[in-house]
Amino acid sequence: MNDSCPSCLARDIAPADSRSRGDRIVDGYRCPNCRHAWAVTRDLTAYSELHSRRAHTRTRRTAA
Ligand SMILES: [Zn+2]
Repeated sequence: MNDSCPSCLARDIAPADSRSRGDRIVDGYRCPNCRHAWAVTRDLTAYSELHSRRAHTRTRRTAA
């Protein structure tokens, strides 16, 4: 799953490395823009929460 760089805010960066740990996935990223590296742990049981967060972002963007 793509993510945004927490350093320079570049968007839609694909994970360079994905590992599953039980019911979690750890995605490792490296920003092609600023070379910042980070990792995101995702709980596979929390997908509904992710969807609501996306909907909230879309609402804010439309309002602005
Ligand atoms: Zn970056």
